[in-house]
Amino acid sequence: MSGRFYRVTCPDCENEQIIYGKAATEVACAVCGHVLARPTGGKAVIEGEVTETVERRAEHA
Ligand SMILES: [Zn+2]
Repeated sequence: MSGRFYRVTCPDCENEQIIYGKAATEVACAVCGHVLARPTGGKAVIEGEVTETVERRAEHA
């Protein structure tokens, strides 16, 4: 199964970014560089505020 994606708001600049829930590398905010997700070997730790969970199975067909 595919993983989940999270819409995360950066605590520093309020930029919204979609982050994969099992990110294997650190994900930084594209605007200010604040680390929004840290890999733990399994599920990533989300550092920002999650505003939405996005299921990835319904893409535009
Ligand atoms: Zn930011």
